[in-house]
Amino acid sequence: MKIFHCPRCEAVLFFDNLVCTCGLAVSFSAPQQHFTSAHRFCANRETISCNWSCEPQAELCHSCQMTSVHPDLSVAGNAELWARAEAAKRHVLIGLMQWGWLTAGDTGPRPEFHMLAEATGSGSMDVTMGHAAGVVTINLAEADNAERVRRRETLGEPYRTVIGHFRHEIAHYLFDRLNGYTEFRDAFRAMFGDETRDYATALARHYENGSPPNWQETHVTAYASAHPHEDWAETSAHSMHLCDIVDSFLAAGLRKEGIPAIQTPPHHPRDPADMIETALKLGVALNHVNRAVGQPDIYPFVNSAVAREKLIFVLNWLRKGPVSVNTA
Ligand SMILES: [Zn+2]
Ligand SMILES: [Zn+2]
Ligand SMILES: [Zn+2]
Repeated sequence: MKIFHCPRCEAVLFFDNLVCTCGLAVSFSAPQQHFTSAHRFCANRETISCNWSCEPQAELCHSCQMTSVHPDLSVAGNAELWARAEAAKRHVLIGLMQWGWLTAGDTGPRPEFHMLAEATGSGSMDVTMGHAAGVVTINLAEADNAERVRRRETLGEPYRTVIGHFRHEIAHYLFDRLNGYTEFRDAFRAMFGDETRDYATALARHYENGSPPNWQETHVTAYASAHPHEDWAETSAHSMHLCDIVDSFLAAGLRKEGIPAIQTPPHHPRDPADMIETALKLGVALNHVNRAVGQPDIYPFVNSAVAREKLIFVLNWLRKGPVSVNTA
């Protein structure tokens, strides 16, 4: 993520800021990728602290427009959970827009987000997170920090974040977009395996038996070994994480000796393999920094040679963006 500046006083603004220290109320223009005080605010600014601006004729910003279902706001706590989830979604969307996905120039179908809380006005409801036919369902319980940590520990996962959930589910949507492209389909199967094999059976087997003991030789996470679709989604989420690590590192003005060819911009590297290596090295370095104050590792994974090949594969496809895919 880039770091931005106030249009009036040039002070530093971070992506989630609503007001500058100079007192100016600002909004973020997603098409222009900067803060402004000249645009209309998104109608969700008061409800969920959305800090994006909207087009003159629109009520909602580009991100909020993609949310078609929101939680019952009469239930205490739901607005706060929804706000946190939308903040993570905006962060993830900006990364995708670096590649052209979901920008004004992307004429493909938009994903639709159902942001569901387990607490509703008529009692508690089960919410299964997932993607189906362009609809991404997010369980807002995951935006509750204590609850998310509890789930992470129950599942024995090293990492679980709301940003990670969005990247994973949006990756399923991007698969559907890319899969219309023969060259992608053939290359995908050669790298990830046959995604047409029965999904429900594979997932049931994963939850019953766990992952194969050697999953780390070929996959970024244990869950990725459940099925080629999940391998794609997990690997894509990791490619997005790694691009954002490098992007944020450079935006913060940091440099590291011994890391070859830190390229700008990381979403469009000259050499994707080099970019992934750079990101993984930064991950190790930043893990060390986080340990100074007892914070968890920012990237608690070790990737095998095969997993790295998959990360590079994904980056190569995502960075083509929608135009080259649609016109192929
Ligand atoms: Zn200012
Ligand atoms: Zn908004
Ligand atoms: Zn998935």
